[in-house]
Amino acid sequence: MDSRNGPETNPGALTQQQSSNHLLHRLFDVQQNLRHIPESSIAELANDLSLPISQVEAVVDFYSFFHRTPRGRIDILFSNCTSCGDLTMMHELCKQLHISPGKTRADGMVSIDFTSCIGMCDQGPALLVNGHTLTHLTSQRLEQIAAQVDAGTPVEQWPVEWFRIQDNVRKNGLLLGTAFETGAALRAAVKQGPEAMLAEIVTSGLRGRGGAGFGTGMKWKFCREAKGDEHYVICNADEGEPGTFKDRVLLTSHAHTVFEGMTLCGYVIGSSKGYLYLRGEYRYMLPELYAVLARRRKAGLLGENILGQQGFNYDIEIIVGAGAYICGEESALIESMEQKRGVPRVRPPFPVTCGFNGQPTVVNNVETLAAAAHIAVHGGEWFNTHGSDKSDGTKILSISGDCATPGVYEYPFGVSIQKILDDCGAENVQAIQVGGPSGTLIGPNEFERKLGFEDLATGGSFMIFGQQRDLLAVISNFAHFFAHESCGFCTPCRVGTTLLKNGLDKIAVGHGTKYDVDEMYGMATLVKRRSHCGLGQTAANPILDALQRFPKLFEDRLVHSDFEPNFDLDAALEEARQISHRDDAEAHL
Ligand code: SF4
Repeated sequence: MDSRNGPETNPGALTQQQSSNHLLHRLFDVQQNLRHIPESSIAELANDLSLPISQVEAVVDFYSFFHRTPRGRIDILFSNCTSCGDLTMMHELCKQLHISPGKTRADGMVSIDFTSCIGMCDQGPALLVNGHTLTHLTSQRLEQIAAQVDAGTPVEQWPVEWFRIQDNVRKNGLLLGTAFETGAALRAAVKQGPEAMLAEIVTSGLRGRGGAGFGTGMKWKFCREAKGDEHYVICNADEGEPGTFKDRVLLTSHAHTVFEGMTLCGYVIGSSKGYLYLRGEYRYMLPELYAVLARRRKAGLLGENILGQQGFNYDIEIIVGAGAYICGEESALIESMEQKRGVPRVRPPFPVTCGFNGQPTVVNNVETLAAAAHIAVHGGEWFNTHGSDKSDGTKILSISGDCATPGVYEYPFGVSIQKILDDCGAENVQAIQVGGPSGTLIGPNEFERKLGFEDLATGGSFMIFGQQRDLLAVISNFAHFFAHESCGFCTPCRVGTTLLKNGLDKIAVGHGTKYDVDEMYGMATLVKRRSHCGLGQTAANPILDALQRFPKLFEDRLVHSDFEPNFDLDAALEEARQISHRDDAEAHL
């Protein structure tokens, strides 16, 4: 199935459909209308929402889609992901439009910048323009975009075919290949009752599909047993790990199944309210998601007395993020839902006992909830007879990079890496990043390893790098990503990710020494061990993996001296030479 995110989903239409008065939504409206968030709007919003001005200011400064200074009427953000990004294209368009990256053109018409992965890794290079997504960029398309900008054509009038997004499902499995009858999971739940349904989920062995792999049945059980005024279900649709896009496909073509999984969870844990936290890059999905919710209400699958069951009340609201990868971390996501900066909480307490608004909360990934809906219909054994010893069921992968057919593939756990590479037409492979930048980097001598929690765990990202790739540049891209996305709360991650990024840059340009590599190893180990949350604890993985498995990447770039400064000393003396009017040999190093 294809989805569109063009003229029929213009920003105005999105605004009308946003039901809640949430701070992120209000700020989005202001950003759309005024192209920035002025002080006056901050004060007004703080007053309207009864929030401290300092909180609204902090939120504006935290999320990358909000700006204090005006952006162009056409605001373009190129993905800088190794799979769906190409910054040479950004520079090409900047040249055509006479603008520098990160700046707004003097006439206020356009601004161009880059952003982290936008989840289009199977159809890149890609960009966002005023929140809409353009994929399959070419030089010809850039020229056409430049012409539209220079003509002052509103984005809503750009050709609709530019905004087409494909699902690219290449291999169906247990979940993607089994038809789902809307309402079937809830009918099964009502027939069996919440305890029996919880037992099915436990029997299935389903574990969280976001990457961490906590037992879903246990999570639901802990939350069901926790005391609170209200219980909440949150579907984490903030898939921001570079190389991951399978939740995009689930929400595009299987939204009923996902919403049914949320409602099922609500029934089991005793919740009447669920939230879908959608990443800001997927804003284009909103009209269709709202339409599915409306259809479910009309069919009696949301609202009061669902399926005629007295007291089975449940509804779902959508909250849209604003460009912050860290909000994929469950406690940061909850903070964001509470209209704050997305800073991870100190745990315990865990969300199952103290989550959204201090109440017991289940946070599950999109794929986990879709799987739960199928399990409710077919039973726990239907699921756990697939997979490997410690990993029941199947995993949906987002495959991108150097292969013939990138897209979405579903496999039973236990499948070998080589089998996946054969299926997607990947040849002459140098390395695979399994689980995105926070996962594991492996080389060809490990391609017989298996996908699963007991071996290679993944939230879904599977990035392939051919022999022609500069793997050090890839590692460096990941380091830049983590330095950019660090929330800044704790020092090891805030400072460490920047030092790692700088260290890699120095080596990449040929100024590195063995001393720098040793320093980087020490820093990577420190960042991994001392950081507060999963982002920092995994940020150094690509560097540590590369040092262990691909040491020549570094050795080949090292100069011979034991130490070289991180800047050009001679260039640094240029100003002194100009002041003293000297440019003779002795004025140089
Ligand atoms: Fe924030 Fe990084 Fe610390 Fe996590 S590890 S809390 S992202 S600074």
